[in-house]
Amino acid sequence: MKTADELIQEAKARSGALDARKLPGLDALRLEAKAIFSALPEPPAYRRDNDPAAQMAQKLVAPAIDCLARLYCVGAAAARVTTIAEQAAQGTAASGREGGEALGGLKKAIAGLKQGRATAGGLDQESMASLNALTRAMELHLRALVAMGEGRIVEADLLASEAMAAARQAMCEGVLFRFVGMGGTPPVFDRATGVSRYDPRSDERLKVQLTCLATRCRKRSQYEVAAQKAFHRLACPKCGQSFGALIGRVGTIRRTNHGVTSHYAIGFELLGEPARLLEFDDASQKGIPAAAGDLVALLYSCTGSLAAAENLTSGALHLIVPKGACFVATMAFGEGAPELDDFRAFRDARLVPHPLGRRFVRAYYRHGDSFARLLSRTKPTRRATRWALEAIHARLVRGGQRARQGRDGGRDE
Ligand SMILES: [Zn+2]
Repeated sequence: MKTADELIQEAKARSGALDARKLPGLDALRLEAKAIFSALPEPPAYRRDNDPAAQMAQKLVAPAIDCLARLYCVGAAAARVTTIAEQAAQGTAASGREGGEALGGLKKAIAGLKQGRATAGGLDQESMASLNALTRAMELHLRALVAMGEGRIVEADLLASEAMAAARQAMCEGVLFRFVGMGGTPPVFDRATGVSRYDPRSDERLKVQLTCLATRCRKRSQYEVAAQKAFHRLACPKCGQSFGALIGRVGTIRRTNHGVTSHYAIGFELLGEPARLLEFDDASQKGIPAAAGDLVALLYSCTGSLAAAENLTSGALHLIVPKGACFVATMAFGEGAPELDDFRAFRDARLVPHPLGRRFVRAYYRHGDSFARLLSRTKPTRRATRWALEAIHARLVRGGQRARQGRDGGRDE
């Protein structure tokens, strides 16, 4: 059997043949790594033949190498982007002195990149730190698995606890949240500051970054909330839109598919409150990017409907699509317009019963939101969308009437 170092070299060699652009994002890699971490068997207490833990460990070596190769590949690609950006920044600085005005745009783009915004395969600093922590945890897991697989139980025990600590750290390093204490217990009464021990602010606070869900805003801002309660009513500082956030840690997550929608049951350990099982439907066709242990904020619109799940541990935002949402038509006609019912009726009666129609509905739920956002950007596109939909709607209504007349006529005969 190969040593752990040889296997790590093998993963590095294999990462060179992978194309980072074709790999799943950091978020999907996190979930993949998490599945491997949680499968790490308990090291056996004594040596024995045909040890099940050893067999399990041997089986996990191959997926661990696969995952490690992907992590190396994404890390190397991100490092390359950063280097290119730095070299380009130096280059533009030099030619800028010679008076090259045309490079201003490029300079701005690079400044953005250097500030740590993720662009074209590059990762921001926080994502890079989380990628490095994941990679280290996966290397340690591979070492633990090899030792366990070979029955070196003392070494396996040590390596396994080290690997689990690294995994915990990699998984709990929040991207969008930070718990902040209030700096120790204040004195009973401090004459200088006027603060007493009974000051309600002396509770633990949570700094979170949440995304505003207003279609034309979608800005991520920082909020400070009390860590003893789960539900918070907040308002976006950029556009003023109010929304609600229910914050907690994911205990279990179960997804079952029914036709074009997925049903979720999430065991949610709420901040400062007892755990609750939350159930809801989502037609977005994308899985919610969260795993057990992640801190997640469920975001509610000002009308109280569940609109998004934001993973505060990984930074992923997932928009929840309610059963029967009509993004483009809602954007054009407004919430609750009577035309929406006609479009929904057409979808359920004409599209959903046919395989091709179902495929269209799925694709629409997957991309409809970005499409609606694109169309809502300017007045002319908004007007054109409304005009096109009105034309389609007129045909739908005529078609519906004809179909009804046809049916009624058939009954008469
Ligand atoms: Zn906003």
